[in-house]
Amino acid sequence: MTHSSEHSPPAADATPEPLVTQAIFEQSPDGMLLLEGQRIAGCNAAALKLLGYERSEQLLGLTPAALSPDYQPDGTPSAEKARLLYHRAMRSGPQRFEWVHCRGTGGCDLWLEVLLTPLQGTGRRRLSHAVLRDISQRKELERRLQLSAKVFTATRDGILITDEHSRILQVNEAFTRITGYSEEEVRGRTPRVLQSGHHDADFYRAMWSCIRERGSWSGELWDRAKSGTLQPKWSTINQVTDAYGRVTNYIAVLSDLTELKRSQARLQHQAYHDALTGLPNRLLFKDRLARALERTRETEQRLAVLFIDIDHFKDINDSLGHTAGDRILRQIAQRLQEPIGPNDTLARLSGDEFAVCLGGLEDQSEALACAESLHRRLARPLQSGGQRFQCRCSVGICLYPDNGDTVEELLRGADSALHNAKSLGRNTTCFYAEELTERAQRRLNLAQQIRLGLERDEFAPFYQQQVELSSGNVIGLEVLVRWHHPERGLVAPGEFIPVAEELGLMAPLGATVLRSACRQAQAWLESGCEFGRIAVNLSAAQLQDGTLHTEVERLLEENGLPGERLELEITESAFMALDETTLANLQALRQHGVRLSIDDFGTGYSSLLYLKRLPIDQLKIDKGFIWDMSSSPESRSIVQAILELATILGLDVVAEGVETEEQREQLSAIGCMVAQGFLWGRPVAEPSFTSPPPPSLEP
Ligand code: C2E
Ligand code: CA
Ligand code: CA
Repeated sequence: MTHSSEHSPPAADATPEPLVTQAIFEQSPDGMLLLEGQRIAGCNAAALKLLGYERSEQLLGLTPAALSPDYQPDGTPSAEKARLLYHRAMRSGPQRFEWVHCRGTGGCDLWLEVLLTPLQGTGRRRLSHAVLRDISQRKELERRLQLSAKVFTATRDGILITDEHSRILQVNEAFTRITGYSEEEVRGRTPRVLQSGHHDADFYRAMWSCIRERGSWSGELWDRAKSGTLQPKWSTINQVTDAYGRVTNYIAVLSDLTELKRSQARLQHQAYHDALTGLPNRLLFKDRLARALERTRETEQRLAVLFIDIDHFKDINDSLGHTAGDRILRQIAQRLQEPIGPNDTLARLSGDEFAVCLGGLEDQSEALACAESLHRRLARPLQSGGQRFQCRCSVGICLYPDNGDTVEELLRGADSALHNAKSLGRNTTCFYAEELTERAQRRLNLAQQIRLGLERDEFAPFYQQQVELSSGNVIGLEVLVRWHHPERGLVAPGEFIPVAEELGLMAPLGATVLRSACRQAQAWLESGCEFGRIAVNLSAAQLQDGTLHTEVERLLEENGLPGERLELEITESAFMALDETTLANLQALRQHGVRLSIDDFGTGYSSLLYLKRLPIDQLKIDKGFIWDMSSSPESRSIVQAILELATILGLDVVAEGVETEEQREQLSAIGCMVAQGFLWGRPVAEPSFTSPPPPSLEP
């Protein structure tokens, strides 16, 4: 102690001079408070400034809690918290903590870091000293960071953050929701995992050069979600650089556009479609027509606009009410849509008015065929609320280039043709052109009459015998359709079948014949009339329908008619045009015992190889070879050759059109067994069965 007392100032002197102490206190850049007990006993200039006061007298005697908001950010009342901290400092020494003051009276919050130190040796005065440091800036930064983090997690947009090498560091929840990829799945990978192949390499090159040049890029990106679905996204990619301008990160913000696109598409659909039927509306119809017109101009083909008006639809609406009317309109729209191909357009123009645009036509009869098909489909009974009823329509047709050159002209033409159709008593079709060729006019009338005839059941089967030459026994009947025309009397098929074929009416006509023939055959069987079998002619349209074999099976079953009783005649040329499926279907029919016969054999071009593969039982020699057999050695040789061919292939033969005794004898002489012709009788509505049943068909 002696030593020290010599060289160091005495203990009392070791404390700085009061003046120095005061200077430190007053000039410190940190705010300082002197507390006696829990009340302020002094403060320096920096503290005054910090706390927003001018004179120290304003603070003296107050507790720090009195200068603070009622509650601290952690929710404790400021007075309580101040008391706690004070006692802790007194008990355990200096305390460092964060504290919020008010700046000035009623001012804003001021974040401070406080170091509260009890002063030793101050006796009963219990002095302490607080150093105040402003941490508002740091707090603000923290707050912002927290906010950013919240935005990152809470935003609806997907966010993806990569390092400078585009390796994914972090993604948010929305990213996972949108893309289906969790953070673990993509971390460390590049955003290429999302690429869909929708954009080419040039697209990505342009995107990256924009990011490099401008620091950011925005645009539509079509990515692929984890599920594999393509997702359109509005994407913004920002480049993040450090103080030296080096790239440290990329941030991509992705908003899912799927829903937007969907609603855009919906809006677009609504603008161009009719809400009730879902069909294109007038606007879209005109647009489609304009395009079809453009395409047609480059060809030699025609284009047709059909206007369709439902006859007396107002009555339906008035009697059944609008809700039922709407339901019926929807059914009508479906019916009308059936024959319209994918390249043509059916639209609803207004209330009960529809329109069709048909392109790629070779001939005006194709437009007529379409109109007929619409008439027919509409004529099938409709069902609404337990009620069945029938609709009819009127159709007006206008053709490019015949009747008009522009969209407007064609629409006007179709409208005026429709007007004509209506004034002609409805349920009919009218072409625009007044100067319709006589032939076209005849066909038009015929088509309408056939359609009506079908509805009125005017078509009936006639029957012509097929005879076994050796015995003269009837072994079969060929069914030949006749039309009981209300004005013209009995009409032969040659007059209406070609038109019916052309206008697509042959399928329903053929079905009618087949049906009534099967029914008649069963009736004969039941009444003990032995007819052998019935041979029904099939048209190409029936064969192409695809439902023929099921229809035949149904008819056989429905009528209880054995398959062996039915023969189907298909012309040589129709046979040649059959596809594999139809052939297989025919083959299936043969399994039921149904016989297949090639009609008009010798007029087509069957190759022998083809003939061998066909599922057939019989050849019918065309009457063209029979009628001049007596005078033409060539015809006779051909008939003979066909007979020999049939023997080789194991097929039966029928000779058609036998009119004379001479022909019969010649055929017998060269080995023909069965024939048919006027020699034994013309086709009749009710054949008589005089001959005994043929032995081959007896059970
Ligand atoms: P097709 O199948 O060749 O029928 C034979 C035609 O020759 C029948 O004419 C028949 O009346 C006629 N014919 C019969 N015997 C003689 C004869 O000795 N001399 C002459 N000159 N002719 C005779 P039709 O009834 O006028 O039928 C003509 C064509 O119409 C049929 O030729 C057939 O191709 C078609 N056809 C008739 N009915 C139907 C049918 O229901 N469906 C289909 N798809 N076509 C039918
Ligand atoms: Ca025939
Ligand atoms: Ca024939």
